[in-house]
Amino acid sequence: MTIETSINLIPEQPNEATWVALRHRADEWNRSHRHHLAEISGIMMQFRISDSSAADYAEIRDFVEDVESALGLKAYSASRRIYNEQDYWDAAFVEIGGACLDRPGRPVVLNAAEALERPVPCSKCGWQDALNALQTAPFLIDESILDDANPEGESASGGWDCVALPGGRLLVSKRLLSELRSADVRGLDVLPVLAAETGKESARAFQLGASKAVLVPGIRHASDETFCSSCGAVLDSAGLDERGDSLFGPQAEFRVSHEQVGEQELVSRHPSRAAMLYFAQRAYRIVYGRQFNGVRRGEIIQF
Ligand SMILES: [Zn+2]
Repeated sequence: MTIETSINLIPEQPNEATWVALRHRADEWNRSHRHHLAEISGIMMQFRISDSSAADYAEIRDFVEDVESALGLKAYSASRRIYNEQDYWDAAFVEIGGACLDRPGRPVVLNAAEALERPVPCSKCGWQDALNALQTAPFLIDESILDDANPEGESASGGWDCVALPGGRLLVSKRLLSELRSADVRGLDVLPVLAAETGKESARAFQLGASKAVLVPGIRHASDETFCSSCGAVLDSAGLDERGDSLFGPQAEFRVSHEQVGEQELVSRHPSRAAMLYFAQRAYRIVYGRQFNGVRRGEIIQF
């Protein structure tokens, strides 16, 4: 695994004098350093730095702080983990999503506006995103899309097995679900979807959720406060008081305890238990290892 950090220096717009000064400083910096500042779409200057270059952090931090105070602008940074194949095989849980098959005028789900309520903010921390939408009815699915190529032109022999639904939900094929069930994967929460053509429950696709949600890390450490116990959102990194750590600090790590997870082999990191689905290694090997169509890997959780 590597951690890649983007640091964005964003002048207020329009501010030509600041831009001229920022470009000048970037040119000077780029002449004598291997990590270059790149101009992105005329709106910001960006560093992208891998943690394999941690030895250069201090120098970059000094430069960024200098630019911030000299030009009166603020740097915004974000880090993401980039996993390799071995990381996935060594993971306790792997997040699985589905292929996006929606295209303009032809969505997979025909009743998303009726089946999902408007997203509401978390009552505890105020976090809101598209996942925080209560589902009040089964999804009505255009099954014919499951046999077509996706919008990128990739086709799926035998149909798509794993498909992204609105609100972060997941559609799985009957054959994928059958494999999970015949292996007695524990913790599945299966909901019917309706076939648009008949209005009846689909025989070939199902909505998959988890019977258990895990919203906060199970291992107590300093970063615990960074997760909302009500919705699982990552809050402001209160534990990172050093300016430097917040510039390069990796996201708070999410580790679960065996007590939290119990026997479950499918858990959700979302209070709906229907989004952010993580498959335990044994279940992951079934879903990812057996050539199902549309399986997309995301984040990893370790014990
Ligand atoms: Zn919350």
